[in-house]
Amino acid sequence: MSERSMLCLLATATAVAVLTGCTSTKPSAPGGTEVELVKSGKLMTCTHLPYEPFQIRKGNAIVGFDVDLVDLVAKKLKVTQEIVDTPFEGIQSGEDLNTRKCDLAAAGMTITPVRAKNLDFSAGYFDATQALIAKKGSSLTSLAALKGKKLGVQQGTTGETYAQKHAPGVTAVQFEDLALMLTAVKTGQVDAAVGDNGVLFEYVRKNPDTEVTAEFDTGEKYGIGVRTGNDALRKEINSVISKAKSDGSYDRIYKKWFPAAPKK
Ligand code: GLN
Repeated sequence: MSERSMLCLLATATAVAVLTGCTSTKPSAPGGTEVELVKSGKLMTCTHLPYEPFQIRKGNAIVGFDVDLVDLVAKKLKVTQEIVDTPFEGIQSGEDLNTRKCDLAAAGMTITPVRAKNLDFSAGYFDATQALIAKKGSSLTSLAALKGKKLGVQQGTTGETYAQKHAPGVTAVQFEDLALMLTAVKTGQVDAAVGDNGVLFEYVRKNPDTEVTAEFDTGEKYGIGVRTGNDALRKEINSVISKAKSDGSYDRIYKKWFPAAPKK
């Protein structure tokens, strides 16, 4: 047992768990795994807004595909999801999970070998590729066509890595979030931008003056991140994902958020 679990047990025994910030919930899963949560009664999710349609603020609420999926996990654990909006770097580096800012990270985040060294991933729950977005009629349909031009990339993402490898001679312009990057395409601050297909198709659907001009088959899969070694929570997430896929709830959520479904 880890020192922290030991402390939590002791704290629970003396009824001061609330003060030490550790709580646990006992899901009814066979095998009797126990999931420790950062905050009593909550499943804390770290994400980086906006990432429509995976997570987006609507009025006072944060909604989206990832939000609905994680709600299923929260329901299984009999707690409620609470979302923390935080820079993507702290999410993908594992830092937010290690410092217990959140129990999990759900941020349209691609499973990569580098990230898997710093956090543990659930099974893949969504297929993605990189894609290119430009103003309609630009004829910028490949990275080669962007030589000497400006290409928007989102900091710390697989899109940025893809551009570094496959777009020599192209000037990369870094953005801290997706909205800033897409606005830059719309206003002509950059000639095009590279990003995940799902979010780009959502944007062009709402902004018909822009278009997705190419897709690069990177074969990515999104995973939900947990702190390294948090197998109890990772297993719960995996069982929820596989049940959602077999009982139709995954399809229901998919259709709700992808009226114009990406090809994959
Ligand atoms: N899927 C991409 C990545 O993991 C982008 C994620 C994001 O910007 N939220 O890097």
